[in-house]
Amino acid sequence: MTGALLKLDGIGKIFPGGGIGLDGIGLEVGHGEFLSLLGPSGCGKTTTLRIIAGFEAPTSGRVLLDGEDITARRAFERPVNTVFQDYALFPNMNVQENIEFGLSLRRMASVERERKAKQALELVGLPDKAKARVTSLSGGQRQRVALARALVCEPQLLLLDEPLSALDASLREHMQSELKRLQKELGTAFVMVTHDQTEALSISDRIAVMNKGRIEQVATPATLYDRPASRFVASFIGTTNLISAIFQNREDTRLRFAVGSDWHPVMNVPGELSLMPGTEVTLAMRPEDIVMSEKNSPDTFMGRVASITFHGRSLRLQVRYGDSELWVDVPRDDRARSHVVEGAELSFRLRPDAMCPVLVS
Ligand code: ATP
Repeated sequence: MTGALLKLDGIGKIFPGGGIGLDGIGLEVGHGEFLSLLGPSGCGKTTTLRIIAGFEAPTSGRVLLDGEDITARRAFERPVNTVFQDYALFPNMNVQENIEFGLSLRRMASVERERKAKQALELVGLPDKAKARVTSLSGGQRQRVALARALVCEPQLLLLDEPLSALDASLREHMQSELKRLQKELGTAFVMVTHDQTEALSISDRIAVMNKGRIEQVATPATLYDRPASRFVASFIGTTNLISAIFQNREDTRLRFAVGSDWHPVMNVPGELSLMPGTEVTLAMRPEDIVMSEKNSPDTFMGRVASITFHGRSLRLQVRYGDSELWVDVPRDDRARSHVVEGAELSFRLRPDAMCPVLVS
């Protein structure tokens, strides 16, 4: 990325006692970009955010902002603000005083402070709450005040640590779109920590998927979903079938998919893979890319429906075939037509264009 706003260059973190928190993190965030750090508990998301904010010093590597090395700068000297998981509002101050706090530290005149606080409250949709005590606000309102307090200082970069985790499901979804709208309106770059893949996929321009102190893949939501770069990413983002396949010999350019002890041809080896005969490949395949088909038509496999779960417009079937299982999504209308019930036989086909080779072993 040319002219990135934030650049993490080989960031490592070893905690006292020898625990590895981060192992060579490299990441770039563009001006006005919304990037999420996504991964399971303990993968290093918060440590990465704290290092960007300046609350934690890296053991190795550099943090660059607009090309300037800020690794040694203290937190309050960085043009970066953080919204914490618990909002960290001051309970003894009203909403306006909370928002003005950062501005008074900068010795801004009170008239100007008041004007900016008013603007920030309008931005987050709480123009009438300036004099309210924060203890009288709902979770969603506190979240907005925390955002207003962080944004009023006009940071170049806003860091958010699980900002919506305290909200119930419906308010959370509403705040996700609010957050995205606000971010695009302001043009400020946001880096958000979340362990919720649905949240990251719906809100982010790009997502950095982390695992065990490393970044496994940085990409747009669509690329992560359609072209996961590793087995970990494929299984962490959405529901994925990981299917074993083999490239048998040079005369046959197709990958073969294992059903019991048989190998069925399913797709041509992608041009970018140069495989030795006998190489095993894992194919990632989404449940919606496995389709029901007519029995005995070419490239059809037979399985048995083990369970059915409701997923709104579609049903998710757990299908046993050979000694393996697959997740298959079928539209609810198709179910009625095809008499899909638990225990029934199901003929299905894999869409070759939807398969993504993720691991060559
Ligand atoms: P969560 O989603 O649970 O908050 P996370 O992805 O944010 O997890 P971190 O909090 O960054 O993960 O922690 C990464 C690793 O570093 C973990 O193994 C954690 O135990 C370790 N760690 C974090 N802070 C410290 C510390 N102050 N001292 C020792 N180890 C730490």
